[in-house]
Amino acid sequence: MDEFALIRQYFQSLQRDSSMCGVSVGIGDDCAVLNVPPDQQLVVSIDTLVEGTHFLPDTPAEQLAWRLLGASVSDLAAMGATPAWLTLALTLPHADESWVSSFSAALSDATQEYKIQLVGGDTTRGPLTLTAQVHGFVQTGCALLRSGAKSGDLVCVTGTLGDSRAGLESLLSNGSTEKNPHNSPSAENMEYLRQRFYRPLPRISTGKLIAPFASSCIDISDGLLGDLAHILEHSRVGAQINPAALPLSDALQAFTDAGTAQKWALTGGEDFELCFTVPAEQWGNLQTQLQYHKVPVTAIGAICDKPGLQLFQAGEWCSVEANGYKHF
Ligand code: ADP
Ligand code: MG
Repeated sequence: MDEFALIRQYFQSLQRDSSMCGVSVGIGDDCAVLNVPPDQQLVVSIDTLVEGTHFLPDTPAEQLAWRLLGASVSDLAAMGATPAWLTLALTLPHADESWVSSFSAALSDATQEYKIQLVGGDTTRGPLTLTAQVHGFVQTGCALLRSGAKSGDLVCVTGTLGDSRAGLESLLSNGSTEKNPHNSPSAENMEYLRQRFYRPLPRISTGKLIAPFASSCIDISDGLLGDLAHILEHSRVGAQINPAALPLSDALQAFTDAGTAQKWALTGGEDFELCFTVPAEQWGNLQTQLQYHKVPVTAIGAICDKPGLQLFQAGEWCSVEANGYKHF
């Protein structure tokens, strides 16, 4: 199958009703022609997965499609943006039709789940590399930045933390439960943790909901402490975090001991939850907004003037290195 037939069959076919998504010209011409709604700004982010660097050889195409898109769309969520368009650059070692077919089917599911429209891309030969560029909209001037945190703001996170790391551990150990011999997780818990790793659920609707109240936001891709450190750096502030307040899933607590669960919640990557700050006086308004929202939001600490990160451990505040944090 030649390159053009491949594009037609597996990517052009993913385009839905173009007029619905502001697409004047989609896949097939030299460029896509796209309409940004009035009073909105375009928000753009790009992510690449390289075989051997970001994923193991022979990772199923389906998983790659979900992880690629999940990670990219999560950046839009962190800005409080609504996903709109996707462009995709694929570098493939050979035209393996069964691989492309699986990838395309999963990409179709993921684009529908995240309500984003594929509008173009590039297909080349070479070592397996996947790049997604995502485009979304925010009301002009309303993008949620890393730079707005102020002393006294509450630090909050969405969902639960550490699950993706546990899912990865469970895959690497092939289901062994030796981490917590006293408390073996059910097959259902194990599946939940693995899905958290395979199929990240970017917090798109939560991001939009918190945007009017939050002072800063980031998505947790590299681990809470490392990502929070970016907010602290961009906002020129510090933070005090109470590890006992971290939201942990029942599945994570059944999978491992309390110390490990806490460590994974602080430093595990790829949860794709949001970490954001909210002025204390907006907390009540935020709670009202969140009343019927399914994703939990938990306050885990506060922003302070003193630079750096402190954790409440054994009854006192201890300074930790966010980036070099490995001594827990
Ligand atoms: P050009 O040589 O002008 O860059 P291409 O042959 O690379 O054109 O692409 C032809 C059309 O197919 C373009 O509209 C491009 O956006 C689209 N396309 C190519 N590869 C992909 C892909 N992997 N996914 C989606 N669209 C693609
Ligand atoms: Mg091209």
